[in-house]
Amino acid sequence: MQSNYIKKILNLEDVIVKKVIHKDSSVEFHIETKATEHICPCCGLSTKRTHDYRYQRIKDLPFQLKHCYLILKKRRYICSCGKRFYEEYSFLSRYQQRTRRLSFSVINELRDTVSLKHVATKVNLSTTTICRLLDTLNYTLPTLPKALSIDEFKGNANTGKYQCILVDPVKKRILDILPDRTQSHLSSYFREIPKKERYQVQFFVSDMWQPYVDLARAYFPNAEIIIDKYHFIRQITWALDRIRKHLQSTMPVSLRKYYKRSRSLIHARYSSLKDEKKKECDLMLTYSEDLRKAHYLKEWFYDICKETKYSIQRQEFKEWISNAESCGIKDFEEVAATYRRWFKGILNAFKYGITNGPTEGFNNKIKVIKRSSYGIRNFNRFRTRILHSTM
Ligand SMILES: [Zn+2]
Repeated sequence: MQSNYIKKILNLEDVIVKKVIHKDSSVEFHIETKATEHICPCCGLSTKRTHDYRYQRIKDLPFQLKHCYLILKKRRYICSCGKRFYEEYSFLSRYQQRTRRLSFSVINELRDTVSLKHVATKVNLSTTTICRLLDTLNYTLPTLPKALSIDEFKGNANTGKYQCILVDPVKKRILDILPDRTQSHLSSYFREIPKKERYQVQFFVSDMWQPYVDLARAYFPNAEIIIDKYHFIRQITWALDRIRKHLQSTMPVSLRKYYKRSRSLIHARYSSLKDEKKKECDLMLTYSEDLRKAHYLKEWFYDICKETKYSIQRQEFKEWISNAESCGIKDFEEVAATYRRWFKGILNAFKYGITNGPTEGFNNKIKVIKRSSYGIRNFNRFRTRILHSTM
């Protein structure tokens, strides 16, 4: 009766608990099984005859916050043909020193953005074992969605400075992580995907990196190319900031202190500022004609982004470029030139409203994984952890 309780607590099928030993930092369950008919792996006949026993120490899920070991009295059968073989157990894979459920729990723990060392300590296994379990996971590229977005991030893999991330921007899920962003690598990667699948991709979102667009044209010929909103808006943010910084550096020291908080004031949407802040901002802008123009262009561009009618966006965007091109501020003339070069792709961002936005969120998660997996420079493991923790 008592042993039945223990059996229930242990929750392993067909096992008899003979003894439980509590130690300082661990618990041992001494277990055995009843002999049952087993098929001989050699001749296929059935046998129930025990030949002998071996004791095996098996790691199991932590029990009452202590390390847990199963001391299994492992039976060896003997067949009439002379073959000796070990009993099989549902909770134990062959040749393993740990229970199946312990392995499953490790796989689950690996979904969190924690270090392998952390998981290892928690479940009383070595980091090497955790790595081996991680290596059993195998994520492959799913069927391509109708919208595909590509971006890169600074990884810590041994394959290159930048890794690529492929995302379904509509369903907001990571499709794959690629070891580097070189064109030759990406070409051979995309070439592997069946043509039929590639030709069904309708939207391809990327930043303003020509090789991405060239790839899209070659491998996704039916896709509209969309320049990611975050990436093209960033051009304006950067230009505005360069102007602000330059101004600050040429300013007399006595005035500089007023410009300390200039960054947030100038970058914020003017309409969202409180009256007091608006005044501060106005004051700042009176100081420099260039900053005033730049600020105006920024506000105007944000308005274009917010506009809901595509036809208006298109018209305004054209006008914006013409204005910025001849504004006399080098930084903004450059932005205008960039926008003219990527005109269609940026307009497509307005038209279809698809952005790399979700990728940014994933990038943050990747950063955490990166930080928690220092020392693990193996790209495949890095990739598996990212895919595993975001599925
Ligand atoms: Zn046999």
